[in-house]
Amino acid sequence: QIVYLNGDFLPIEEARVPVLDRGFIFGDGVYEVVPVYGGRPFRWAQHLARLERSLAKVGIANPLDTAGWTTLVDMLVARHPWPDQFVYMQVTRGVARRDHAFPKGVAPTVFAMTSEFPPVAPALLASGVSAISLPDERWLHCDIKSTSLLGNVMARQKAVEAGAAECVMFRDGFLTEGSASNIWVVRKGTVFGPPRDNLVLEGIRYGLMAELCERAGLPMELRRIVHAEVLAADELLLTSATKEVLAITELDGKPVGSGKPGPIWNRLHEAYQQARTA
Ligand code: PLP
Repeated sequence: QIVYLNGDFLPIEEARVPVLDRGFIFGDGVYEVVPVYGGRPFRWAQHLARLERSLAKVGIANPLDTAGWTTLVDMLVARHPWPDQFVYMQVTRGVARRDHAFPKGVAPTVFAMTSEFPPVAPALLASGVSAISLPDERWLHCDIKSTSLLGNVMARQKAVEAGAAECVMFRDGFLTEGSASNIWVVRKGTVFGPPRDNLVLEGIRYGLMAELCERAGLPMELRRIVHAEVLAADELLLTSATKEVLAITELDGKPVGSGKPGPIWNRLHEAYQQARTA
């Protein structure tokens, strides 16, 4: 496996970052995960735009322009044999003596790697996944795709310890998102999602879901969603770059709707597969 680090392509075992990198010391960085189908990054412009927004929000200058990122990712992907991959890109504020305030004149650390993206397991598609409800205990800048993921990591671990695949988080009683996914509620044929605000990471699949719903003639509405509405959902869905769109068929040990992936999931999943290859 070859990775990119600060201008070089090298074997992952040889890639080294100094211990004073602020990514290591403070989690002071941002990242992206981009699916690549048949060698082509999917929704590339949107991922780059989100990276740009995350960088701007934390005050790190974008180290590369669009052409630079595109060339980097194309070269990385071309060095691996897998037809489908997902690329991880990370920018940290760089290496400096430990001090909370931003250092001056420091070059950001730029890292990228790619992994094989096997098709989502048929068993997951057939049965859906289970989730648990949790209070959202993270900070108030969840719109930044930050590498500071301790809140997400702890939430996911609680889900795993409860035998579930993901958590569905609530802040002040309102649905936010999963530990690494956006959550959608289907009720009476309408797809509901939480508003795009500082309490959720706006997945690239937010825009995609809007397109897929429109194409499928399904109404979609973004608004605040209370816990009772999630419990009463006909279907519950999660989306992410690597999970695409999955049905959550069990929440807190109880079946969601019929307890099987539902018809709306089915339509959206099919539409997703078409969009992937379009
Ligand atoms: N919310 C969180 C916290 C995430 O980590 C992710 C990414 O996996 C998402 C939502 C979904 O975003 P995307 O659709 O861009 O993968």
